[in-house]
Parts: sequence; C-alpha cells; structure tokens
Amino acid sequence: MTYARALRCRRCGREYPLEAFSICDFCFGPVEVVYDYEAIAANMTKDTVVAAPWTMWRYKDLLPVGDKVIDIGSTVTPLVKADNLGRRLGLKDLYVKNDCVNPTNSFKDRVVAVAVSRALDFGFDTVACASTGNLANSVAAHAAKAGLKAFVFIPADLEQGKVVGTAIYGPNVVTVKGNYDEVNRLCSEIAENYNWGFVNINLRPYYSEGSKTLAYEVAEQLGWRAPAYAVVPAASGSLYTKIWKGLGELHKIGFIGNVGTRMFLAQAAGCSPIVDAYKSGSTQVRPVKPNTIAKSIAIGNPADGFYALKVIKESNGGAWAAPDPEIIDAIKLLAETEGIFAETAGGVVIACLKRLAEAGAIRDDGPTVAYITGNGLKTQEAVLGALTPPTLVEPSFNSFEAALNGKGRQG
Ligand SMILES: *Cc1c(COP(=O)(O)O)cnc(C)c1O
Ligand SMILES: [Zn+2]
Repeated sequence: MTYARALRCRRCGREYPLEAFSICDFCFGPVEVVYDYEAIAANMTKDTVVAAPWTMWRYKDLLPVGDKVIDIGSTVTPLVKADNLGRRLGLKDLYVKNDCVNPTNSFKDRVVAVAVSRALDFGFDTVACASTGNLANSVAAHAAKAGLKAFVFIPADLEQGKVVGTAIYGPNVVTVKGNYDEVNRLCSEIAENYNWGFVNINLRPYYSEGSKTLAYEVAEQLGWRAPAYAVVPAASGSLYTKIWKGLGELHKIGFIGNVGTRMFLAQAAGCSPIVDAYKSGSTQVRPVKPNTIAKSIAIGNPADGFYALKVIKESNGGAWAAPDPEIIDAIKLLAETEGIFAETAGGVVIACLKRLAEAGAIRDDGPTVAYITGNGLKTQEAVLGALTPPTLVEPSFNSFEAALNGKGRQG
C-alpha cells in the first residue's frame, strides 16, 4: 500500500507508472514521484505519526514504499540544541541535526532504505551504486540485510574508512581509476546492460525521496514548524532539493504553517559547481573537476544542480563554498563545542554556517538547522595533521607530573 501515484517528468510533466527508471523517454528530463496528497491528509495525522515507532518509517505515507521495508535499525536522529556553537557564532537558536549516528554513520541510510525496499518490490536480485563512499557503505549494509547481491563502484582514492566500511558487509567492491563523475558514467553504461537495481540511477526517483525524512523529523522535533534557516551540504543537490520538497509536503497536508525556510546550500570550494552558478547568476551548472578533502560531496557534475538553483531562488536562500582549511577548522569547532565528530561534509556545513552568520545572511530571528550528514570516523585522514598529539609518559606518577608541569610551563 502506497500513496505514491506515478512518476512525473519534472521538465515536461508527462506521467509514467511507478517503474525502475529515472529519465523521461520523451524529453530526457528527470522523473520524480508524485503522491495522492488528499488521501495522505485524510489518513495521516500528527497523532498517528507521534504514536508510530521512533524511526523514519513513521512518515511512510509520504514515501514510495509498500508494506515491506528493509530496516537495519535506523532511528529518528537527534536534533541537538547547539548552544555552545551558537555562542561562538552569535546565534541563539541554533540546532544541529546529527545524522552521524545512523547505522552506517551517514544520512545515506535514509535514501538507501527506500531504494532497496523498492528494489525488492521490483524483483531485482542485485543492487548497485556509484558512490563517493557513504552510499557504498549503506548499500552494502542494506543489501546484506535484504539478502540481495551488491555491486558497489567507488573512486579508487577514497578514505580507508569508507572502503573498509563497505567491504565488511561482503558486497562486490569495484574501485575505479577515476573521479566520481567517471564512476557514475561507467555505472550508467552498466545499468543499461545489466538488470540491476542501481539505487542512484534507475532507482533514483525512489532513493531521493528518502531525503525528505530529514525535513519531516526536523519539523516534528521543532514542535511542528519549519526552521527559519537551513544549511544543507550538496553533492548532486538531491538532499537539498528534497528537504525543501518535504517541508512543502508537510504544509500541504496541514502539519505545519507556511514554509518560510531560507535554504542555504553548502559546498567545498574545491568542488562548488552549484555555488559558482548561483554566484554568477546563471541557471546552468558548469561541471568542474573536484579537488577537495570533502570527498563525500565531491560531485563535479551535479544531477540536481538546476533544481537546487531553483530552490535557492524560491526560498530566498543562498549558497556558500568553504575552502579546505576552513573545513578542517569547522570540524574541530563542532567537535570542541558540541561533542559531535562530523566528517568533511559536516565541516563544510559548519564553515559555511559561520561565514553566513558573520555576513548577516543568517540571523537570530528563528531556528537555524545545520544538517550534519556523516560521521568523522570515516574521514580521519582529513584531520589527522590538525590535532594536538597525545602526551606520552612512562607508567609512573613522576613521569606524568613531569609531563603535566612541562606542559604547564609551555602553555
Ligand atoms: C551524499 C551525501 C550528501 C548529499 O548528497 P546529494 O547528492 O547532494 O544528495 C551530503 N553529505 C554526505 C556526507 C553525503 O554522503
Ligand atoms: Zn519529460
């Protein structure tokens, strides 16, 4: 049972049955899932949501899944009131949505849970993906739980944590000598020749809907209202556009008032095609060659860039790109103020948030939510050189005190 009604082309509006493809036959525009919102509004109430288990499936009526879903134990993630960080940035009403704590340690568990559930409905025996790392982890884990075969394609230069965190689940890992955009191109070709469920290619319309749960959860956690400001990292731009879609849907079914959220998009300066287009006032995203430590969001040719630019405009939002040294400082700042160890994409978000607050683009007139989408243990290489080394002592009290005093004199 699903309220998803059809796939509809975002460019020409043609509708299709809910099958496994992502591009309109007629105009080559991307298709997206549309729903019967009247039926959803008639069936889904805040009470039914609140009474449901504390997982993303409490919003199942707004997702394109049937009764059987693949669940590896994700829960609703914390929305942390970030008072310490807020003091540093001059923001009194700041929250961090902490998606570091998902089962495979990134927000990708949301999108993959939807895509793999759908893959089972479609009867695929193999799921696959082109990934910058986090998607690979999550696809491998969900495939294991679903009893499906998995093929995971990643660039050959990924962080070790991302590779180990994929291989452990036993998929076929293919490392490609190239960047993500080249991996993705290769996968599109494979997808045409093999009958596999590629979560971010032929299952992409379903996959991307999972991101909406990051809008629903935050609205519920804020007491059923939309944030005034959101800062969201962008790779393909899918997450950013779907948070906006999700907030709009909650308004449509009467759960929240008007959505006045100003949506800010964050990229790394070493891969900022969407920010560049926004700054130059263009509606066309020009592909770039990524060169940044923020590998999880290093997509040089973002599939949803055009739509992300539209959301920046519609929401009266903005965009910012953070250089690598600021990303590292921001990872440390978030850890030292809030006790949250984010991966590089989180550093991008906090670095951009800091700049936006300094510039007065984000003010104190309502809640700001910074979306932290992945766990720092996966990208330790990025911060290794930037940390105070541990103090080495002999196993004796004297040695400890000598070291402590030595430190005291220096400091
Ligand atoms: C995949 C990913 C994103 C966003 O990706 P989109 O393609 O823009 O949806 C953000 N942060 C992390 C850590 C990711 O892995
Ligand atoms: Zn079309």
